[in-house]
Amino acid sequence: MTKPRLEPLPPAYTAAMSKPSDRPQAKSPRSLSGLLPFLQPYRGRILLAVAFMVLAAAATLVLPVALKSLVDEGIVAASPGERAMALRGHFGALFGVGAALGLFSAMRFYMVTWLGERVTADLRNAVYAHVVQQSPEFFETNASGEVLSRLTTDTTLVQTVVGSSLSMGLRNTVMGIGALGMLIFTNPYVMVQVLGILVLVVAPAIYFGRRVRKLSRASQDRVADSSAIASEVLNAIPVVQSYTQEQREAARFDAATEAAFDTARKRTRVRAVLVAFIITATFGALLWGLYQGTQAVLSGNITAGHLGQTVLYVIVLVSSVAVLSEVYGDMLRAAGATERLMELLHAQSPVTSPAQPLPLPATQGGSAVQLQDVRFHYPSRPQQAALDGISLSVKPGETVALVGPSGAGKTTVFQMLLRFYDVAQGQVLLDGKDVRSVSLGELRHRIGIVPQDSVIFSASAMDNIRYGRPEASDDQVIAAAQAAFAHDFILALPGGYESFLGERGVRLSGGQRQRISIARAILKNPPLLLLDEATSALDAESERTVQAALEAAMKDRTTLVIAHRLATVQRATRIVVLEHGRIVEQGTHAELVARGGLYARLAAMQFSEAG
Ligand code: ADP
Repeated sequence: MTKPRLEPLPPAYTAAMSKPSDRPQAKSPRSLSGLLPFLQPYRGRILLAVAFMVLAAAATLVLPVALKSLVDEGIVAASPGERAMALRGHFGALFGVGAALGLFSAMRFYMVTWLGERVTADLRNAVYAHVVQQSPEFFETNASGEVLSRLTTDTTLVQTVVGSSLSMGLRNTVMGIGALGMLIFTNPYVMVQVLGILVLVVAPAIYFGRRVRKLSRASQDRVADSSAIASEVLNAIPVVQSYTQEQREAARFDAATEAAFDTARKRTRVRAVLVAFIITATFGALLWGLYQGTQAVLSGNITAGHLGQTVLYVIVLVSSVAVLSEVYGDMLRAAGATERLMELLHAQSPVTSPAQPLPLPATQGGSAVQLQDVRFHYPSRPQQAALDGISLSVKPGETVALVGPSGAGKTTVFQMLLRFYDVAQGQVLLDGKDVRSVSLGELRHRIGIVPQDSVIFSASAMDNIRYGRPEASDDQVIAAAQAAFAHDFILALPGGYESFLGERGVRLSGGQRQRISIARAILKNPPLLLLDEATSALDAESERTVQAALEAAMKDRTTLVIAHRLATVQRATRIVVLEHGRIVEQGTHAELVARGGLYARLAAMQFSEAG
């Protein structure tokens, strides 16, 4: 029912709506805090992971101490016999430390990777579940390819961080701080100098960090752009190929990917500079410390083992700073991705159920529908009213045909009833209740739609019909298919009701798709049916069966039908003629033809007698 909008949105509108990704940027990796609610349920596991991590880090930090006693007591010890015994013991201890390191690292790795996968899966599900609830307005401004890109590439980035970078970061922080502590403890004087130099490193690193985050956000946006192009084109392959635009589309995609590459290149360059800077500066500072250490050994102030231990701590410290600078880069990237995901997650649908919904009264023989002076314009066309003061009252069981030139507002009337959008003025009532006062679920539960283009899901024929009423029994599905004249052709399919339809399944003819779609509505058995008759011509035989199926669907309920066939308007209790969002005429076919107005002109052009 929602038609694809081919015309681009006016620039003023796009600017005013400000796509989420263009909003002012937040400051720092703090954006990652959006992930906290997703980590919350796994507190226990996180604690375990941290415990293993600390144990592994401690094992690493014990190594240099073990080495020092190996050198000072094992190698430099007094008699050769003592030396051999001491050496054996020291190597045994070293192996013990190594084995502990291996075990703790493996446990930490498992826990953390598990967390990363789990949190990403939860995040993906939460975003998806939220997005499918959004009203059509959301999808007018967010291409589905863009949403898909956020669901896949952005969550993958988050996964890198939660599932590895974050733990690498924590481990290296613990090790770095430990090594630093040990260095200060064992060489207080020298380390104070080294620390002074290190502080000078931090300030520029923060500056570079900001740029990295901005650029990574931009590069995710560019990736999403190319996904949006791809998903649009892949959905329109027959058109693209029939207009032989494959190469131009490939070039358009190429341009989008190049733009993504280009921002990625910029981001990586800044990040490379950041890494080079941090590592060089840290290394320089520590070498300065070591130089002082060698001087101390030479002047006999410290032992060789002491220096060896210091060298190991320095190596641990330098490598953890190096890792940390990379991790920081990863976190900045993931912060950009998290922002984009949080925007999706916090998108507010303008159409939501009221906090205290009123119950809808029971119906008999169909729903009552009332439109009272309804005015509405689409959010993308604030200047142009799609409905310009429509009042219409439909009694239970009536069949009302909506007729009018294209763009008159017929589909918009359906959108109002389904509450895909809210009216700007006036009221839409279903069974006497304003549609805004009842729950969306209950409202839509009462309405069945048969859209102009039948939607067939990738599922069996049985499940396709059962879509609106998952609890229906096989017999009920078959009865609905029989009523919709779909039973015979379904049985003739290779797998009968179990035949797989849709993209990778059995292809159905236009008339067959319509009958599946009608069977789906019949099975749902709603008191109000909204029917958008297909305009595409079917052959006479299919036309007859589709008409018969529609007739069955309209029985015992209220029906509003956007009519394109003479047979349909003749059956309607009333015809409502729309033009420019207003009702211009009402009556039966005969009355309206006799009047010689808009309807008579349309009827002469539009309705073939054969229909
Ligand atoms: P009909 O079904 O009678 O052909 P519609 O109800 O689809 O007409 O459209 C009424 C008017 O609203 C038209 O001018 C159309 O261009 C406009 N319109 C329809 N859908 C949208 C939309 N999603 N965004 C902006 N304008 C729309």
